[in-house]
Amino acid sequence: MQQLTSHVYVETEIRGCNPGIVFTDEGSVFVDTAQWISKLLEMRGFALSRGPIRALINTESHIDHIFGNHWFAGECPVIGHENLEKTFWKIPAAFNQTTYDYSVDIIRRQDPEALHLMPSEKDYILNKPNVTFSDRLFFKLGDHDFRLYYTPGHSDANISVFVPQERTVFVGDTVFSQCQIWLHTANFDDLFRSLRFLGTLDVDYIVPGHGPVVGKAALHQQEAFLHEWISAVAYGVAKGWDEEECVQRISFADRCPVDIGQAEEMEYIQTHNVRVVYNYLMNN
Ligand SMILES: [Zn+2]
Repeated sequence: MQQLTSHVYVETEIRGCNPGIVFTDEGSVFVDTAQWISKLLEMRGFALSRGPIRALINTESHIDHIFGNHWFAGECPVIGHENLEKTFWKIPAAFNQTTYDYSVDIIRRQDPEALHLMPSEKDYILNKPNVTFSDRLFFKLGDHDFRLYYTPGHSDANISVFVPQERTVFVGDTVFSQCQIWLHTANFDDLFRSLRFLGTLDVDYIVPGHGPVVGKAALHQQEAFLHEWISAVAYGVAKGWDEEECVQRISFADRCPVDIGQAEEMEYIQTHNVRVVYNYLMNN
């Protein structure tokens, strides 16, 4: 785990999202839960050794951000966007597995010593957010402010968590840092709006959903990369390529790796990113 500021810790070197902890003088707040049971319990234990866990915030509904919610059941309120409910604990149909089986398979491969800690399907508690909001939600805990903003685009349930005292914002998958971007549920107009909005926050640290912590320049880099994706597919459309030909000919696989431990998803990412961009161009 990396200590980012005097009160913020993040884990950016495990498979799945970058979970974080913000410590206040009245307890801690978790942002997202790891998809790796031993790391998750290590983080949870670290937080509890310093006081109560007072809230868990999910920045989106994708499995890599909510898998560990089970281990916070009964511990604290869970906060998320109101749209998160309909996609919570759902994985792409192309994965051809139930979410539970998919999760067990991941634990078996990446964290086998913790497999015995995975509950049976009937005992696994989804622990969905019980505090939801539509546009923004602000609260104070001890000496810290938490400002939660709706920042859709990666999905329709993405939020960002701004902690002004730490000059830090957790932006979830609105930013992918030094790794492949997943656009399979993207809305580009929303994503561009959210990136511009995040640029108005007075921060030093942006905790992305995946990859190392970055500064505000990363917002422009992400925007530029999205434009590259759109341009590449627009070029194909201008050449007369249909969707399948675009899928065959366009790839950004050589640009950067997939986030840790997910190299096998490269083809899925490239294929679905092309399809989503193609349909965006055709419907706008
Ligand atoms: Zn993610």
